[in-house]
Amino acid sequence: MRAAVTEGVEAMALLERPEPSEPGPHEVVVAPEAVGICGSDYHFFTGELSEAAGGSQFPRVQGHEIGARVVAVGPACRGELEVGQRVAVWPLQACGECYPCTVGRPNTCDAFELIGIHVDGGLQERLSVPEDQVYPIRTHDPAVAALAEPVSIAVRAVNRARVERGERVVVLGAGPIGQCICLVALERGARVLVVDLQESRLEWSAGLGAETLVWTGVDEVVATGRRWARPAGPPVVFDATGAPAAVRAMVDMVASAGRAVQVGMSGEEVSLRIGSLTEKELDLLGVSCCGAAEFGQAVAVVERNGGELQRLISHRFALERAPEALRFAMENPTEVMKVVIGD
Ligand SMILES: [Zn+2]
Ligand SMILES: [Zn+2]
Repeated sequence: MRAAVTEGVEAMALLERPEPSEPGPHEVVVAPEAVGICGSDYHFFTGELSEAAGGSQFPRVQGHEIGARVVAVGPACRGELEVGQRVAVWPLQACGECYPCTVGRPNTCDAFELIGIHVDGGLQERLSVPEDQVYPIRTHDPAVAALAEPVSIAVRAVNRARVERGERVVVLGAGPIGQCICLVALERGARVLVVDLQESRLEWSAGLGAETLVWTGVDEVVATGRRWARPAGPPVVFDATGAPAAVRAMVDMVASAGRAVQVGMSGEEVSLRIGSLTEKELDLLGVSCCGAAEFGQAVAVVERNGGELQRLISHRFALERAPEALRFAMENPTEVMKVVIGD
């Protein structure tokens, strides 16, 4: 079978690899049909994640946003799984024993294995996965099924933030994750203001019913956001950029007793006024990937909003063009919303 293998830093090649053997108990073999590419794929590709992920990660088949069809179901799998079914893949496998695992938060497991990062992922024609990472999904477009993973990050973020009906919520950053947070928060009945540097990226959220604002600078955006949620300021602000200026704006903008939620990933540092945390008594919350129940919630969000989500897919490439697709996505950040690879 064909596999797009990341053989080293910034080196991906299409190779022939042996197919996985027949699935064992509680295992499923799937044929990935569509694989979404995101920022963490760029970080892995450029070698920035290799050390954090525990030493040498190469060679590795990347791809953790996977829409697939079931091609073989192993013994003792749950009855709902059938050959031919379309599925989304939850990329996380946790150890079950460390502190976060024992307090019900396996998504922050110290030893977790993510498909496409720690174990081989979706950029190949067949993939063997534990059955509990396979979620049947009703959508005619496999690329939409692949979006269950980024949507699951948004579900996690909105759950962490405890967003309630009628609340005013600000989302900084209108990339795929920011847009998905907007979607999930709107579904919960919140009023949402989305902020991005690029006006064209705000159209999708505006179409869903969000209000939008073009980023100018920290002070101006903070003032506008606080006016929008007057008099106290927004009770919830998400940063979906990982940019230090946006993180500053989040902490300055959010209401006292509010929730500031960090979703955008970054290795950068940010300086904050310490008094903002104490005076406001903020809940400063970080978001990783999601838990099993939340992945199920994300699948339901995708099934309800497939038509809208499909419009987030800006570019599609066949599997043999995977190296080119990754480069294209990295080199054209303003043009690209979501790149999907699949035949
Ligand atoms: Zn991703
Ligand atoms: Zn663990």
